[in-house]
This record gives sequence, structure tokens and C-alpha cells, in this order.
Amino acid sequence: MTRLVWNKPGIPHTDWESLYVVDLGAPAWQCDMCDNKPIRYVHYLQHSAYPRVLKVGYVCAAKMTGDPEGTKARELVLRKAARRRIAAEKREETKRFAAEKMRLQAERFQAETRERLENCKYDPADQEIYYIEEEISRTWDLSYSSSPGGIAWEKDMQLQEEEDEEDERLREDQRRADGEHRAETAEIQRKWQAMSPAQRLNIQREEWTYDWQISAKGNHYRHHKGRHFVVFQNRKKCDQWSFQVDGKFARKTYPSRDAAKIAIYDALHGVTV
Ligand SMILES: [Zn+2]
Repeated sequence: MTRLVWNKPGIPHTDWESLYVVDLGAPAWQCDMCDNKPIRYVHYLQHSAYPRVLKVGYVCAAKMTGDPEGTKARELVLRKAARRRIAAEKREETKRFAAEKMRLQAERFQAETRERLENCKYDPADQEIYYIEEEISRTWDLSYSSSPGGIAWEKDMQLQEEEDEEDERLREDQRRADGEHRAETAEIQRKWQAMSPAQRLNIQREEWTYDWQISAKGNHYRHHKGRHFVVFQNRKKCDQWSFQVDGKFARKTYPSRDAAKIAIYDALHGVTV
């Protein structure tokens, strides 16, 4: 049972009338009738023998109105709307992310040679991809923010059945998103099959330049087949890049960071240009 502190003098305990319910978006209101945890869904109640409208949580509203079913139904309307909003946002975000990733890949592929020769600064496009992924995971976190007390409370309200329906809807959304993702993957594979060996090599080189880690000094590094590679810039000359293999310095220099990475790729794979 919820511990109620209905000890405020002069406040009637029964025969309240429900005006409406408001969704605050997060638990942010302390119930006027008890000292329970902050509430998200606020029931506005009025009484003919009391001058003020009271803002209370579900448990108190159910007792004060004597109408638990009606109270529950009013709150459920808002709860379902909130879940639908989150599901729709998630769907939109997933679509935007897939489209943006495709766009970035296409752009990079087309601009590959020009960028490598002209740009001696770090290209923030990689960071942009991770930023979008992070945004999505943050959005998904929002759909489950119940405190332990909140979970027990939801059981009290017998919401489990309704939530299962919503979860099924979320799973359906996910299945649809998976289907779209599979179609995109098949399209990418089809394009890959249609490419010449030279085009495929260029893409493999391009991919090799992604997913490097960044050291405290800002140098890109990675491990590959038991060896350690570091790419670094000449401190004085912006357009001179080189690399280390297991601590040994390469002699040659390259006009950009990606060009240095690709030189490593070519050496590892026996590519002669
Ligand atoms: Zn209360």
C-alpha cells in the first residue's frame, strides 16, 4: 500500500470531482495530499466545500473521487499518447540516421581524391556519424525512465496489459525499420557487385581510413594483425603526414592524414600503384 499522509487540516477526503489530467513529461510535482515520490501525471481535482483546486497523483485521486476506474482511464489516455510520441520520434530518427549515413558515404566516396590532396586538417565527418548514433541512443533511453518505486506503482494500476500492447507496437516498428535496413543493405551489395576491381579497392582503402582511435596527443592509431600503427602530422609543415609501425618511423611523407593511412593499407595488402 502507498503510505498516504492525508493530515492536512480542513481538506475534505471524499467527493472530489476530476477536472482534467496533465502530463508534465517527467516526475516533477509533489502531490498536494501525500508525501509520495514526485508525480508526472497530475490530476486536477475540485470540491464544492474547498476553495482551491488540488493537484494530486493517481493513488490519491482515485481515493478522493471514489472513482479509480475513471481516474485510471483519464491517465491512460495521456500515457498512451506519450508512448506513441516516443515510438514515432524513434522511427523518424532511425530513418534520418540511415539516410544521413548513406549521404555521407556517397559524398566521401565522390570527394575522396580531392579531399586527400587538399585538406590537411582532420575531417569531422567521422565525428558526425558518431554524434548521430549517440543522439539516437539518448532518445531511446527516454522510453524507460521508471524508478523502482514507479515500477511498483504501475503494477498497482494494473497497467501491465496495456503496456504489453504498446511494447508489441514498438516491436512492430522495429521490425519495419529492420526490413528497411535489409533493403538498403541489399542495394549496397548490388552496387558492390557492379563495381570494377579498381572501384572496390578505392572503397576498401576509404573504409580503412575510418574507425581509427585518437590518442591524447590527437594522433590516429589502430592495431591490425598484431601490429600497432600511428599516423601523425609534421609539427611545422601542415601538408606532411607520416606514420609509425610498432614504434618505427616511416621515411616517406604524404599530403594528408588519409593518404598516410592509405599508404599503410597498400603496404599491408601488397597494392602497387
Ligand atoms: Zn498523493
